[in-house]
Amino acid sequence: MDPNPAFYPRPIGVSYSTPSPQARRASIDTSTTLVPDTDQDSAYFRALEDANIHLNRPQIQAVRHGKGPLLTLAGAGCGKTTVLAARAGYLMAMRDVPASSILLVTFTSKAAAEMKLRIAGLPGVRPAAARAVQARTFHSFALAMLRHHGVQDEVFGETQAQHTVMKMMLRQLGLSEAFQPESLLSALSAWKAEGRSADELPETVREESDAKRAMLAYEAWKQERGKMDFDDILLRASVLLRDPDVLQPLQRRFSYIMVDEFQDTNALQYEMVQRLAARHRNLMVVGDDDQTIYTFNGARQESILEFDKVYKDAKVITLDINYRSDARILGLGSNIVAKNVHRRSKRLAAAGHEGLPPQFATPSGPEEEAAHIVTHLLGQVEEGQLRYRDIAILHRTASGSRSIFEQLIMRDVPFIQYGAGAVFYDQTLIRPLMDHLRLSLNPRRMESIPSTLGPLYVSREAGMEWIMREEKQQAKKYPLIHLSRWDRLRDFQREQVKERIRLIRSLSTMKPAYAIQEMRRVFYDKYLESGDTGAWTHYKETMQESLEELETAAKRFDTVEAFVSFADELSERHRQMESLRREEDSDAVRLMTIHRAKGLEFPCVYWIGASEGILPHSSALHSELPEDRRAGAAPTAAVDNDAALEEERRLAYVAVTRAKELLYITSPASNHGKPAAVSRFLLEAYGVTPPEASKPETRRTSFGQPKGASGYGSRVSGGAPTSSVATRVSSRSGPGSAAARTTSSVAGSRTEPRISVPVWKCTDDACKAWMRRDTTGGRRKAAAGTDTPPVCPLCSSPMTEGTRSIPAR
Ligand code: ATP
Ligand code: MG
Repeated sequence: MDPNPAFYPRPIGVSYSTPSPQARRASIDTSTTLVPDTDQDSAYFRALEDANIHLNRPQIQAVRHGKGPLLTLAGAGCGKTTVLAARAGYLMAMRDVPASSILLVTFTSKAAAEMKLRIAGLPGVRPAAARAVQARTFHSFALAMLRHHGVQDEVFGETQAQHTVMKMMLRQLGLSEAFQPESLLSALSAWKAEGRSADELPETVREESDAKRAMLAYEAWKQERGKMDFDDILLRASVLLRDPDVLQPLQRRFSYIMVDEFQDTNALQYEMVQRLAARHRNLMVVGDDDQTIYTFNGARQESILEFDKVYKDAKVITLDINYRSDARILGLGSNIVAKNVHRRSKRLAAAGHEGLPPQFATPSGPEEEAAHIVTHLLGQVEEGQLRYRDIAILHRTASGSRSIFEQLIMRDVPFIQYGAGAVFYDQTLIRPLMDHLRLSLNPRRMESIPSTLGPLYVSREAGMEWIMREEKQQAKKYPLIHLSRWDRLRDFQREQVKERIRLIRSLSTMKPAYAIQEMRRVFYDKYLESGDTGAWTHYKETMQESLEELETAAKRFDTVEAFVSFADELSERHRQMESLRREEDSDAVRLMTIHRAKGLEFPCVYWIGASEGILPHSSALHSELPEDRRAGAAPTAAVDNDAALEEERRLAYVAVTRAKELLYITSPASNHGKPAAVSRFLLEAYGVTPPEASKPETRRTSFGQPKGASGYGSRVSGGAPTSSVATRVSSRSGPGSAAARTTSSVAGSRTEPRISVPVWKCTDDACKAWMRRDTTGGRRKAAAGTDTPPVCPLCSSPMTEGTRSIPAR
C-alpha cells in the first residue's frame, strides 16, 4: 500500500463502507430546569448559566455535595475539573466556607494555575478569595509545608544536574560501566514514590547492592549540600505529616480537600491526602480510571477503583456526558479505550455537535508527516480558520517530535514545546556524534572537543584542562592530539586517541548517515553499551531509538557539511524562539507529549505517530519497558505486557479526547527506516482486527516484510528490503474521492525471474490485498488447527486461496 500524506476520514486499512464511530448524543436536563428559582442556592446556578455553564444533574449533585467523602468518576471531558472548581466556588459563595480552608490538589503547575483562574471567574467569588484558595500540586503543597517548618534545603530539580551528580557517584564507586545514571535515578524515584527510603532498597544480588551503593551515595551528596529533589520533598513532607503537631493544625485549617486527576496519584501522595482529611473526612476526589497514564511513576489505578471501599460512606457520582469533543471525536476515543479489560465500564454521551469526522493520513515516514502537517496547519491559519494557539501537536515519546520540531522551526511557525530539553542534535546522547562531525570539518572548534572525551574514557574536566594547557604551549591542528602525550592515560588509550583523530579526519568526506553508522560501529555503541547491564538496561531502548532517529535525520543530507550547518542553524533559531516559551498566552502552536496534555483541551489536535511501534510503543509489545517507564518499581520486576498495552491504549484515548472540534491523526508508514503499520488502536476502533503480523513476536517482520512464509504483501513502505510486491491503494474514501482501489502493481523489475506462491486474496473486488500463505504448517495454521482463511487486513472482507507471481529473490 502506498503511503499517502493526504487526510481521509478513515484510517488506511478500514473499508470506506465502515461507519465512523460516533458517540450517542446526550439529551440533557440542565440547571436551567433542574434548579428552580425557588431553590435557596438558585442564584449561584443562575450566575453560572450567565457564564454559559449549564450543569447537568450529576454535576449539580457534585457541586452541592456538602460534607463527607465523595468520588466523582467520569470520562474525559465530562467536567471533572469544572465541577471541582464550581464546588469550591459554591462552598465559598453559598456555604460561607472561608477560601483559605479549601485545598485543591492537582497534577501539574499548569493545571493548578488554570484551576485558580477558573475559580476567579466563578460567580460570587471575590478576587481576594480566589487568591486565598490553595490550588496546588502535591509537590508545591509539600514544599510549602517543609518551608513552613523551617526546612531550608535548596530544591535540586534540574534533571541534567541530577544526572551529572549520579554520574559522578558512579565514577567514584568504579561503577560507571555498570549502570546508566538515568536508569538509577528513575528507579530511585519510583522506589521513593512508594514512601520508602533508599536505605530500604533491596541488596540480594550483587547488581542490586551495587546500584544501592550508588543511590545511597547520591542521597548523601544531596544531604551534605543541603539539597532535595522532588521525591525528597514528597517523602520528607509525608514523614513530617506523621507528627501530630504538624498534622493537626493542617487538618483544622483545610476543612475541605479536593483532588483532581486522582487516578494518577501514587502511594505517597494518597497517604498524604488521607492523613490531611482524616479528621473531617471532607475529601472529594475526581478522576477517570481510563486516563491512568503514570503507572511507571507509581500511580495506582486501584486507588480510584477502590476509593468507595476505603471510604465506605463515600458518595459516588458518575459523569458521563462529554462537553469537550464533538460526537465523532468522542466516538473514536470511546471505541479505542473500550478494548481495555481493566476498567470500570462506561459509555460516554456527547453534549456537542456531531461535528467533523477525525481525519487520518499515512505519510511515508516522520519527515513527510511533519512537512505535511505543517503545510496543513499553515493553511488553516492563513485561511483564518484557526489561530496558532488553537492547535496542539501531540506525540508519544520525546524523540518522536524531532521531525515536527525541525519543520516548525525551519518554516517559522511560532510554537511552544512543553517540557522540551535541547534541540535533538544537542541532546547528551547525540551531541558527541555531532561534535565528531563538527570536528571533522573544523578540528579546532574547541567547544566541540569536550563531548568527544567521554567516548575515549577520558575525564571531561581533567582532559580539557590538559588540552588547554598544552594548547597554550603549542597550538595544534587537532588539539585532541595533546592527549596522546598525557601521562595520566594508559598506552592503549593514547593509541586510541590517534586512531580517533584518524577517524575524525575521514568523516568529512563520508555521507553523513554513513559517518554516523561508522562511528557507532567503531566506538560509540560499545561506549554506550559499557554503561549498561542486566536489569537496569531499560534505558537502552531509548538510546537505540534516538540513534536510529539520528541516522534517519542524517539521510536527508548529502554532505557532513550540510548536515552540520543544518543542526547549527536549528540550535540558533531555537535559541531565538526561546522567548515564546515563557509567554503562556502567546499565539503559538503547542507541541507536547501526550502525557503532558493530560487535562488540557484544544480546538484542533494533531496526534502524530499513530503507528505500531510508536503508539503502542514497541517496548510495550515485547519484554522491555518504554523510555518513560524504565524506572520499573523494582529492578527485577517482570514487565506485564498486557498491562503495558492497556496503558498505551489509555494514552491513545487521552490523545484523542484532547480535541474539541478537529482531530488529525497521522500514522507514518515507516519508523527509523522500518515499516510500521497503522496503530492497532485505530483499526480496532473501526472493528478491524489488527493483522496477526503486528503481534509482538513478529514485530520486526510486520506488514510488507515477508520473512518466512507468511508476510503481508501490502503496506510496503520506503526501504523495505525484501518487499518487491505491493498492493497499491491509490486513492481512498475521502471528501470528493471515490474509494477507488487500483490493481496491484509490481514494484520490482519485470525482467526478474519470478515464482508462483500460494497466497490469500481478498474477496472484495475493490480491494486487491493479498498475503502469502503459510503452507509449511506455521503458526497461524497451528493456532487454528486448520488452514482457516484470514480476514483481509485492509478491508476486513474474507480472504480466499489463490496464487501469485512474485520475484524469485
Ligand atoms: P479531563 O478528563 O480531560 O480532565 P474533565 O472531565 O476535567 O476532562 P473539564 O475540563 O472540566 O473536563 O471540561 C471539559 C470541557 O467541557 C470544558 O471546556 C468545560 O468548560 C466544558 N464543560 C464541562 N461541563 C459543562 C457544562 N455543564 N456545560 C457546558 N460546558 C461544560
Ligand atoms: Mg480535568
